[in-house]
Amino acid sequence: MKINVSTKLIINYLLLVVLVFSCTTFILLYKLNYESKAQLENELVTKAQLISEFIPAPVIHQGNTNQIQPLVQIAKQKSRARITVIAKDGKVLGDSESDPEIMENHLTRPEVIDALQGKTGASTRYSYTLQKNMLYVAIPAKTNQREISGIIRVALPVTTVNTLTVNILKNLWIGIIVALLLTIILGYVSAYFITKPIRQINAMTQEAIKGNWSQKIPVTTQDEIGSLAKSLNLLFQQQQGNIEAIKNEQNKITAIISSMSEGVIACDLDSRILLINKSIEKIFAVTAANCRNKMLLEAVRNNELDEILNLTLRSGQPQQSELSILVPVQKIFQVYASPLTNEDKTVGAVLVLHDITTLKHLENVRKEFISNVSHELKTPLTSIKGFIETLLAGALEDKNNNRRFLSIIQEHADRLGKLINDILELSKLESKEIQLEFKPVALPEIIRKTVETFTPQLAKSKITCAVNITGSLPAVRADQDKIAQVMINLIDNAIKFNKENGTITISADLQIDFLKIKVQDTGIGLPSADLPRIFERFYRVDKARSRDLGGTGLGLSIVKHIIEAHHGQVGVESIQEQGSTFWFTLPL
Ligand code: ADP
Repeated sequence: MKINVSTKLIINYLLLVVLVFSCTTFILLYKLNYESKAQLENELVTKAQLISEFIPAPVIHQGNTNQIQPLVQIAKQKSRARITVIAKDGKVLGDSESDPEIMENHLTRPEVIDALQGKTGASTRYSYTLQKNMLYVAIPAKTNQREISGIIRVALPVTTVNTLTVNILKNLWIGIIVALLLTIILGYVSAYFITKPIRQINAMTQEAIKGNWSQKIPVTTQDEIGSLAKSLNLLFQQQQGNIEAIKNEQNKITAIISSMSEGVIACDLDSRILLINKSIEKIFAVTAANCRNKMLLEAVRNNELDEILNLTLRSGQPQQSELSILVPVQKIFQVYASPLTNEDKTVGAVLVLHDITTLKHLENVRKEFISNVSHELKTPLTSIKGFIETLLAGALEDKNNNRRFLSIIQEHADRLGKLINDILELSKLESKEIQLEFKPVALPEIIRKTVETFTPQLAKSKITCAVNITGSLPAVRADQDKIAQVMINLIDNAIKFNKENGTITISADLQIDFLKIKVQDTGIGLPSADLPRIFERFYRVDKARSRDLGGTGLGLSIVKHIIEAHHGQVGVESIQEQGSTFWFTLPL
């Protein structure tokens, strides 16, 4: 059974009150009894002494019952007590309440024994003669020679003392009941105030269990409870500070981890996921809530990653590995796995996934570029070398062919020069080595001038070029030479990949915040499969045709780099055998 402190305090008060009252009553009654008896005894002694004057010792000594009995009756009326006269041998000589002849010998009565020894004897006991509790007092009746000739015994019932005790007890019980009622009321009030801070402390700790440490108990007393409240307030304040510091740290760490571009997974020793960050959610198309406490393999379904984790957990050593995933998006990661330790024991592991897809792609692009460059350079060089060898072997003297051979060598040397120029240009653009000179330029003018430079080729290929720019266009901030280069490359391609009697239309669209230039031709067009890669370096639909036409495969790549350096975009729409539209935008 749960008894609260207030009830316990009230019970204690009640017990205390009962105890105090009981002790007091006991002592009081004992004392009262004792005093009353002593008083009664004194009274009886006095009465006995008076009677000894009335019934003198010589009369008793004669031992004549007939003489003594009437005297005893008179003495009884005077003293209102029971009077007994006893001979030295214990024989009753007279008794006020009974016939002495039928009374037994009184020699063994304690008061008689004492009186026979010359003392005043007293004894309280139940009298079967009177059916009452009696106090007997006996004194020796002495002659002049101080000789004991008999005993005078006076007795009174002790009922008066008992009645008094009962009356006092009755009143005391009333007092006790009143005191107990008062104790309950006062006890409740005082217990309420004494236990109030304890209740507050209790409520405060209950709140703290729920995580609320920001409470304060009012300190109203300077006693132990007040000091406990003070200490608790201090403890709570410190605890709140600690919790806040931990929370801040945790928030910081969570913010860092969740904002990391690298994927982070923390697992326990059983490979169960403790934490994943946003990047992991994206990489594996999962949610943190669904992954928590699941086995890694079950959550992300990647055997390789699970193996790296298991190896780290088993060995307790950091691991590094490359990981390729195909779904949801094809990616390559460098995985760094480190064991989590606590007191030198491995308790889990953290996996950090660093996305190296672009890096790998760039590496591949670089490798591809080097192999492309060497291949592209090798082709004209081989031709040049071959024709020089042919000339040296005697063709130099061959008047029909020597000039033709030399012009082929020149053509290849030109191509080589053009290739090297384009590579250098591209490399400069990529490395941002060249600073573009931005200034307001009038695009229609650049376009018209560029088209003019192509007049001979246009005429030769029987292609007509129309510049459809009506109205005035706002000037754009651009590098004039580079934009001219873009136009050259696009018009050059539009001529090269056009058909006989084809047309080229150059137009400009003014949009809200950019200008869109289109170069449209009626040429061979592009297969739709090649469209996404057409701006890549050395990407050509038909390599032989491009080479024959003096192309390097870098023209569109240069266009893309220049336009992107102008914060614009490039694109192409094309239908095979119908023509292509290459476009670029320049922000206004
Ligand atoms: P090049 O013209 O030197 O080959 P580019 O980078 O300028 O290199 O062009 C790459 C490839 O794009 C060309 O080889 C060709 O296959 C295709 N191409 C470019 N312009 C056009 C066009 N106007 N019509 C059809 N194909 C084109």
